Amino acid sequence: MKTRRWVQIGFFLFIAAIAVNHGLAESGGGIAWLSNASLHAICPFGGVVTLYTYITDGAMIKKIHESSLVLMGLVLFLSVLVGPAFCGWVCPLGSIQEWVGKLGRKIFGKSYNRLIPKKADRLLGWIRYGVLAWVLVVTALSFDLVFSTVDPYFALFQFWTGEVAISAIIILLTVLGLSLIVERPWCRYACPYGAFLGISNKFRIFTIRRNAKTCVDCKQCDSVCPMGIEVSTSGKVRDLRCISCMECTSEAACPIPETVQLLGGIKDEA
Ligand code: SF4
Ligand code: SF4
Repeated sequence: MKTRRWVQIGFFLFIAAIAVNHGLAESGGGIAWLSNASLHAICPFGGVVTLYTYITDGAMIKKIHESSLVLMGLVLFLSVLVGPAFCGWVCPLGSIQEWVGKLGRKIFGKSYNRLIPKKADRLLGWIRYGVLAWVLVVTALSFDLVFSTVDPYFALFQFWTGEVAISAIIILLTVLGLSLIVERPWCRYACPYGAFLGISNKFRIFTIRRNAKTCVDCKQCDSVCPMGIEVSTSGKVRDLRCISCMECTSEAACPIPETVQLLGGIKDEA
């Protein structure tokens, strides 16, 4: 989906500009209105923490700007409507893993995404709910962004500042390295925000649906799914890992028109 590529590039560049501008603002330069934008507002950890602290005591954690809440509202509204589109279209950490993954596909060819058995891949996917629980507990106890010491997103956009913990840089490099053999490893196995937003797949209004009557079982939809979901055996994709990227649809990968579509309504699986 070319549109998605451009949206991803656009958001990546915008967030990189915010990060660079923060550095310039500290030395008295930069663009004034942009220096108010919070990098943490769209970070995989910051998003969970913003919501949690607001619900529990109505307060914003220091470093997180109030605009985070508006952004959070938009992300949640979008998730109820079409699922975690934030992950598939906006999150720059997700995007960079996909871009590194393209190189991985070139290097490893057919072995790409196949080194981790499907069953293990599914089981490892539950780790991100452990990370989500950990973030909530740590936040409840400290009310600070202590997880920035392990946050690869923060490392990605601040690595040149000297403010990033070495542990976060190691995690970022590990994630990018793993992206060469498996698509979006951080999103699949570790991201707490993705875990949280993924719950919306169970009740989202517009869902990815496959029409079993017209499907020719070519499994193109499976091979393009960046989250390893078997669309070819689903009627309606309710998998917690779906990131609403739309790569599996008939407009993108499925060769049969109107076989895989994003559709609303409550009619159930084929
Ligand atoms: S099931 Fe389709 S929309 Fe969901 S993550 Fe996979 S390719 Fe993207
Ligand atoms: S790409 Fe389309 S035709 Fe091929 S398996 Fe998936 S749904 Fe069926």
